[in-house]
Amino acid sequence: MINYGTFFFTNIVSVTVFTACLCLLAWNNRKVTGMKWFAGGMVVGLVKLVLQGLEGNISPVLGDMVTNELYLISFVMQLLGLRWFVLRKPIRQWWAFIAIGLALVTYTVLFLDKVPYISNVINIPNILVCGVAAWILLKNGRGPFAAVSRITAVILSADAVIMTYRALLTNLFYKQADLTDRAHTDPRWVYSLAGMAFLATCMVMCVLWFLVTELSKELAEQARTDPLTGALNRRAMEEAALRETTRSIRYGHLPCMIVLDIDHFKHLNDTRGHAAGDAALQSLVNQIKPMMRVNDVLARTGGEEFTILLPNTTASAGIMAAERVRQTVEALEIPFEDEPIRFTISAGVAQLDPAQGGWEGMMRRADAAMYEAKENGRNSVRPIARFNEAAAVQVAAPLL
Ligand code: GH3
Ligand code: MG
Ligand code: MG
Repeated sequence: MINYGTFFFTNIVSVTVFTACLCLLAWNNRKVTGMKWFAGGMVVGLVKLVLQGLEGNISPVLGDMVTNELYLISFVMQLLGLRWFVLRKPIRQWWAFIAIGLALVTYTVLFLDKVPYISNVINIPNILVCGVAAWILLKNGRGPFAAVSRITAVILSADAVIMTYRALLTNLFYKQADLTDRAHTDPRWVYSLAGMAFLATCMVMCVLWFLVTELSKELAEQARTDPLTGALNRRAMEEAALRETTRSIRYGHLPCMIVLDIDHFKHLNDTRGHAAGDAALQSLVNQIKPMMRVNDVLARTGGEEFTILLPNTTASAGIMAAERVRQTVEALEIPFEDEPIRFTISAGVAQLDPAQGGWEGMMRRADAAMYEAKENGRNSVRPIARFNEAAAVQVAAPLL
């Protein structure tokens, strides 16, 4: 059988290495709040292990009571870290924290009162926290987090089972303090402890998996977003348009597209500076976004050109939407230095016509309509009036 002392030593070494690695990763990825909670939980767990190692040489309050309290706090912090990855919502269940606080206070009072065997009861909240964490992951781990959430939930459930087994074992056989040494030579006690250490290692691997998933999700989002305005970029719009076209042809609800371009933007840049131009682009997006429906897609498809995809929208509703945007922009005054920035847009609208080249055709026609609006004096909205597909293809060719 493995020797408890050796096991404890190797365990503390590996937990120290894992904690250091996770802390470094949390420090280097400070935006990933879940990592901070988890690494913090690991640090608390490590302090607990050190105190546990010193048991016998330090007071029972530190070696027993504080150790058990830190164990619970460490589990709660790890749970908060995991929760962040799958559920980015503020916590509303404050009663749960009040309950944990009450459990800790009650335990402290009872321990200091020297109520016998009370240390065995403090495991119950730990088991509950593991169960709750597994449940949160199973219920909310979706998309790229689905696989890692399920596996982590299995590990947490196994943890809860082993902890229950060990609580029963301790309560049945090793209740009294002077029997603890005998527990250290009981294979059931030592191997179940080794099992928990193994699961803790698996948990660290899962947290790394969560982090990698989070970072690759962020990268994928960056690849789809325009950094200046936060709107989607051309590639994301093309993907959305393709998806929407396929969907709409199947269901018969055709989408509309608005292409809009800021009027005389070069003049704005030249007279007020590039920063003013940037502020205009950002304000434009901030104004349009709240006006859109949930499924509408807004993208920056050129320097000062934007495209809005409106699923399931008639041509007249599309024109009305574009007109609302035009009026909002016309009324907009962006505070900048000592004189507010004002500008207008020209917009073209087209509805999907499967006979006229799918979404690319719709985009070309909306673009041509936008140029008609420019020719007609700018600050206006045009549906397509005259359209020469062959000429449009020629104009659009260098873009493709
Ligand atoms: P029109 O009314 O015909 O659309 O004229 P315009 O001046 O708006 O169009 P033009 O294509 O001549 O100029 C577009 C300008 O947009 C030129 C370019 O420097 C500027 N631009 C492109 N991207 C950015 C950007 O990210 N920030 C700023 N400030 N300017 C940009
Ligand atoms: Mg322009
Ligand atoms: Mg332009």
